[in-house]
Amino acid sequence: MNVNDTEVIFSILGKEGYERTEDINEADVIMANTCSIRDNAEQRIWGRIEQFSHHRKKRGAIVGIVGCMAERLKTDLLDSHKVDLVAGPDSYRSLPELLSKITPDNPQINVMLSHEETYGDITPVRIDKNGVSAFISIMRGCNNVCSYCVVPYTRGAERSRDPHTIVREACDVWSKGYKEVTLLGQNVDSYLWKGPDGESVNFAKLLSMVAEISPELRVRYSTSHPKDISDEVIETMAKYDNICKCIHLPVQSGSDAMLEKMRRRYNREWYLERVAKIKSVMPDCSITTDIIAGFCGETEQDHQDTLSIMKAVGYDYAYMFAYSERPGTLAAKNYPDDIPLEEKTRRLNEIIELQNTLSLESNRRDVGEVFRVLVEGPSKRNPDELCGRASNNKMCVFPDKIHKVGDYVDVKVLSCTSATLICSVV
Ligand code: SAH
Ligand code: SF4
Repeated sequence: MNVNDTEVIFSILGKEGYERTEDINEADVIMANTCSIRDNAEQRIWGRIEQFSHHRKKRGAIVGIVGCMAERLKTDLLDSHKVDLVAGPDSYRSLPELLSKITPDNPQINVMLSHEETYGDITPVRIDKNGVSAFISIMRGCNNVCSYCVVPYTRGAERSRDPHTIVREACDVWSKGYKEVTLLGQNVDSYLWKGPDGESVNFAKLLSMVAEISPELRVRYSTSHPKDISDEVIETMAKYDNICKCIHLPVQSGSDAMLEKMRRRYNREWYLERVAKIKSVMPDCSITTDIIAGFCGETEQDHQDTLSIMKAVGYDYAYMFAYSERPGTLAAKNYPDDIPLEEKTRRLNEIIELQNTLSLESNRRDVGEVFRVLVEGPSKRNPDELCGRASNNKMCVFPDKIHKVGDYVDVKVLSCTSATLICSVV
């Protein structure tokens, strides 16, 4: 999401004559687009601000902090006297004006959140390296108030972008040679756009509109919310070969008590029913997740419930985190962050270890299968091999001297590790 926001910023600043440089020593303006989701994300930015200080003092470079951390800390960032610009996620259109007003004694800040801003009319300037896969934001903000989560405070209320601008953007990247788009939102299942003349587009409809652009354009999306993922979305995915068969369905915890406290608004039974529905319609669909270890008051039994739901689902992949208290959230206000760090780490490590086993089992089940892979580039380990993802989002590597980045190649899975499928071209 931040990569895509940065692409929006490049577009806005590019129109004003700013150019992008990869060399920090050459930059007149240095901006960090930030994440506040966990404390360690913010700590890294404080480290970067220190590094930027040198360029600010020696060369007079302007240092800007944009994104969620700007929104969360507001003027506190200016108090550090190391930052000239603070701009929240909804204020990027004002960046040229803010930049023009900055002087050494006059830092600028805009942290207004908006109920309307979707940057729908802005064509992001792509900063990805391979030119194959592009992110497209379909909505901004979030209306859920999961008790641990800072997103609703830093990114504001949920708003859906005009679907016609989304389709236009997808057509544009397709015409430029891209082969895959990933539609982004904090909770894509609640995407809902109502046009002035009564037209109404929900997420399932949007998916089919984008999938119809070309059968050769792959469509991915993230993130689904277990309470909202609808049968209509699942059936739409099944209907189109080019909608990739992978659903990111963050469970967070396997314990009903924790899910309730997290205000996720589903329970274990509901979650497992949604997974059963997905598997009944698309048996080959991979399911990935996010998990938080050591949330407030989590007992050993709650933790065991997380391990057991992981096994019950058999996740193909997971992002796993230790709970990090975020100031201002409902959890920070209401529940003590009472699991000692050592215990959180132990639980997290158990979760990671189990996921490694599950990922390996999942990959082993694919040995012998034939997958259509979209080539992303040479494999990291061996320049004579190519790598690319199958529809189920698994990374495949295979020796190949003929195909190139952006080609579709059919490969057979010969063996695997927990992270990669080792294949040969069919
Ligand atoms: N909108 C998505 C998730 C966005 S944040 C959803 O609801 O699923 C990405 C992930 O970060 C979350 O799924 C959660 O697992 C993790 N996360 C969010 N807040 C956190 C916190 N305070 N501590 C640790 N992990 C957190
Ligand atoms: Fe945060 Fe919950 Fe919204 Fe996801 S759905 S962004 S976890 S509040």
